Amino acid sequence: MNSDRYQRHSLIDWFSQASVKTSRFAIVGCGAVGNEVAKNLALLGAGHMDLYDFDSIEVHNLTRSVLFREGDVGRFKADVAAERVKELDPNINVSAFVGDFWEEMSLDQAASYSCIICCVDNFEARIRLNQLCLITKTNLINTGIDSRFSQVEVFPFKSSDDSACYECNLPNSAYERMQQRYSCGWLKKISFVEKKIPTTIITSSLTGALAASNALEMLKDVPRVESKRMLVDSFSGKSTISTVEKSCTCPGCSSLGLSVSILKGGELVQGVFNLPSMSSDDCFITSDPILVSTRCTHCQPSIGAATIVFEKASKYDSSVNTCELCGEESVEVVIRDSISLSDLERVFQGGKLPCKYITFGYAGQVFVIEMER
Ligand SMILES: [Zn+2]
Ligand SMILES: [Zn+2]
Repeated sequence: MNSDRYQRHSLIDWFSQASVKTSRFAIVGCGAVGNEVAKNLALLGAGHMDLYDFDSIEVHNLTRSVLFREGDVGRFKADVAAERVKELDPNINVSAFVGDFWEEMSLDQAASYSCIICCVDNFEARIRLNQLCLITKTNLINTGIDSRFSQVEVFPFKSSDDSACYECNLPNSAYERMQQRYSCGWLKKISFVEKKIPTTIITSSLTGALAASNALEMLKDVPRVESKRMLVDSFSGKSTISTVEKSCTCPGCSSLGLSVSILKGGELVQGVFNLPSMSSDDCFITSDPILVSTRCTHCQPSIGAATIVFEKASKYDSSVNTCELCGEESVEVVIRDSISLSDLERVFQGGKLPCKYITFGYAGQVFVIEMER
């Protein structure tokens, strides 16, 4: 490490270059806010940064993305952001993950980060990242912007088992908005276009600064234990800071409890059959809704004639409802997010579950089994 580079930081009494240098950050979403957070952490001298994004750069991203240039249009956001971060500070160990973080980030990987900064633009991805952080007890910072306000939420899962999570006070309207993407159950609507929130670099840069500053706070010897939410009005400068209260009915954290054990490998699912006092009616919760079967009520009138699919429902959209044989919209789909041990053995012959992980309670503990990729 070139210490001259960080000479000014060394004059700051609250700043520890050594702890920033040994930290590992993940930035999920490399759009407007992700760009700002990556730029800030790079200039602060972060040691390691992993950048996740499935998307590629479009020309309208250029008004809000400090790391992107006109010649980058069409390239993957994560790749370009990683290259530019490396230019800002060649000492950084930076990796780009092009794809959905849900597929790309293993639980081990999530657990390895000092802090994950969520810079996505939709509730569903935030909820999923919140789940990964809860399970692995990884610090999470969530960000949100519009054309005027900047919001940053801090969830110190590493330092406290009892802090509120992202879903603890999430309003019903968020779940309603999420459901608008789907037809019935968990099949995506064909050609659904999500309403985009207009933003400018002003709120993106303000949010990126607050997120990076709170990421540094997470590294301190005595980190915060309460979750907090900051809302800043970029017009007036007024800010509201509130403690996020834990909700005992939260769909995100209430089912996990204090003790979570992570087990590896799909074959372990078989082993669970042999645990004493596990009954065949006991259910696994699957991390992803599974499209179990389809049946056209015209062409396959008998319930027993259903076609077994057993794949992630997210791979399908509502076109599944239309029968390939008769062309009618008469296909019934069965989508489940929990499977009993007996069903797994009987119907699916103990096959590999098409999901990221499963959770189940046993002997007062919650077990998470991560499926092999
Ligand atoms: Zn919660
Ligand atoms: Zn049919």
